[in-house]
Amino acid sequence: MKSSVLVINCGSSSIKYALVPGAEGQPRLAGVAERVGSSDAFLKGIDSRGEHFEEILPGADHTRALEAIFEHLEGRRPDVVGHRIVHGGEHFTRAALINDDVVTAIDQTAALAPLHNSANLEGIAATRALFPDLPQVAVFDTAFHQSMPPRAFRYALPEALYRDHGIRRYGFHGTSHAFVSARADALSGIAGGWLTAHLGNGCSTCAVWEGRSLDTSMGLTPLEGLTMGTRSGDVDPGLHAHLARQLGWSLQRIDEVLNRGSGLLGLSGLTNDMRELEAAAQAGHENARLSIEVFCYRIAKSLAALSCALPRLDGIVFTGGIGENSALVRENVIGHLPHFGLVLDRNANTETVRGREGRIDSGHLAAPRLWVIPTDEEGRIAAETRQLLDETTP
Ligand code: ADP
Repeated sequence: MKSSVLVINCGSSSIKYALVPGAEGQPRLAGVAERVGSSDAFLKGIDSRGEHFEEILPGADHTRALEAIFEHLEGRRPDVVGHRIVHGGEHFTRAALINDDVVTAIDQTAALAPLHNSANLEGIAATRALFPDLPQVAVFDTAFHQSMPPRAFRYALPEALYRDHGIRRYGFHGTSHAFVSARADALSGIAGGWLTAHLGNGCSTCAVWEGRSLDTSMGLTPLEGLTMGTRSGDVDPGLHAHLARQLGWSLQRIDEVLNRGSGLLGLSGLTNDMRELEAAAQAGHENARLSIEVFCYRIAKSLAALSCALPRLDGIVFTGGIGENSALVRENVIGHLPHFGLVLDRNANTETVRGREGRIDSGHLAAPRLWVIPTDEEGRIAAETRQLLDETTP
């Protein structure tokens, strides 16, 4: 039987978890501890009967929250823990069995993602202290993109910035792009050339050829690329200096506005939630309409740019909360790419059932395929964790 994997995604104030069982047919237990470290911390999730539960954990730190998560596993002890780690730098090209050296190496990449990696490390430390005899594996968001060639990952900056400080494009959402492109291969019966669009609160695109990432829209940080929920995506690199010089903005304020006050939220002045934006646009809210238009146009522009990385385009895959659920966004994006010969099946697009895989092109043999594929980052992390465990266990 396959090992059961507890997948942990530890942020600075939240811990998402999923117990991915080894046996077919067993339910997955999942949930999230939120506001960790504050007086109103709580844990909510789904039990094995599919019922929702919620428990308040006043003042719980990461260790206490993890203990509470273990108490909600209904006595099912995982064989291994898989930690989602945001940044693996150039050091990690695949998952790694956690030991002191791996912890040190993750710590050394923390300068590239200070908030994320230090929270991930806190989760590892707490889990190791609580369950010292459980093997633990680190699965990196960046690892899938380590196959990008230098022409895709280098910035046109002085070489020393790359050599001495690791300043280059890394890319993120690797587990999601890897998962949906592998599903597209399986569903289509080819090892194809795919453009994948992960559209959630964070958004990125990726060019995948025969299972390898050749280019992606995010860069040194998850701010580069597409318009996102609250992140600006690409802006003129001169903007930062302009805001500092002309408006007297501090670095902290620039960072805050570009990461948390921009994107769909900034453009609409309303919300970062696509469902609410669609409703507001329908009701005549001009800035909501504009935010969706910019969002879709930027996705199409990014897909067109990334198509340069592929020897052949077999299709486009939509995933993430917006990619899986918004027929409007998919139709608008595809509408901007007529020169790719894409033919959308409008009925299939609007009838695609939430949470299900669906093909939304007309089925014309010469036209690239259009897929909607629900992502399963926890499933992919569990699979990579198992694979590594199998390789390292005699
Ligand atoms: P995260 O990146 O935080 O995991 P998700 O992948 O869950 O986020 O995506 C969240 C986004 O998906 C939100 O903008 C939300 O409005 C959007 N979304 C979810 N359901 C729908 C829907 N039915 N129609 C349009 N957008 C949706």
